[in-house]
Amino acid sequence: MPGPSIYHWEWIRRPNATIENSLIISGNIAVHYHPGKYQKEILTAVLEINDEKTVLKFIKQWGFLGFRTSVALKDNHIVKFDGINGFVSGAFNNENEHNTVGSEILQQFFPNISHNLYQENESIPDIIHFAQKIRYLSEVKRLLSLYYEGSSVAVNDMKEWLKNLPPEWHKELVWADEKFLQDRARPGESGYYQYVLNTILHGARNTFSHSSERGVWVQLKTSLNDNDAPFSLGQPVFQFDGLFRFIEYILLIDGCPSPKKCADPKCGHLFFPTNANQEYCPPPPGVKRSRCEGRHTRWLNRHGYKKLKVKEED
Ligand SMILES: [Zn+2]
Repeated sequence: MPGPSIYHWEWIRRPNATIENSLIISGNIAVHYHPGKYQKEILTAVLEINDEKTVLKFIKQWGFLGFRTSVALKDNHIVKFDGINGFVSGAFNNENEHNTVGSEILQQFFPNISHNLYQENESIPDIIHFAQKIRYLSEVKRLLSLYYEGSSVAVNDMKEWLKNLPPEWHKELVWADEKFLQDRARPGESGYYQYVLNTILHGARNTFSHSSERGVWVQLKTSLNDNDAPFSLGQPVFQFDGLFRFIEYILLIDGCPSPKKCADPKCGHLFFPTNANQEYCPPPPGVKRSRCEGRHTRWLNRHGYKKLKVKEED
């Protein structure tokens, strides 16, 4: 029996969202898409969020985070909408048609709700805070995998990272004092740092999975048609009540994508590579070459270095 799939869950891009007086206005265009198809791209996009401008860029491309979506408050509308949407989806031939029909259904049945069915009142500081948490958790994952690969710099990097972690984030992520952790960790510096970082990851997984946290459930597939994968009715598929839950899930599940650090020392940002050889932050949408790669290559050339190419074996 196949395991539950995350590829069927849908979310909404907001390509003409704007910011007015520090509030995000969703705009009147809603484009449905499947986040499961873009896991690494979405994770990298979250890591880039750090101010109003980058929040807006994210929402245009991937939609709201869904913090304020409460199934309890909205379930009546959502259940009705999903029911009608699921019922007519058998007639869709492609994503464009799906979006058009989806909009028509909304207007027909819920003229007053319009396109704000799923997201409202998301605050910019909340989104920036969430992105910071994802950056920290991604770095924890990267450091731990360096450590388990036996990297000689891992222990030092873990130590530096912890030293630079602001106190309020230390409280939020580590939630235990040094004495408590030292008593339980293996003796020695490497045992200690590895233990602290594992505690952070464990804490994040525990919070995500706790029964008090709503918002992830298994649905038995009811849609009559699905263009992405041939799935029969009644198969279990994951559903998320917000994009932030989906992001946490793909970051924390075992075997999920691993982050890398950009090879340009002037950047050093984390990103989730979409292919194994990718060493630099991805280029912005519509651009072919990574800006960091361009900048680093020019620097190397100016200083008389040649970039090392990985030699392929015959
Ligand atoms: Zn970079």
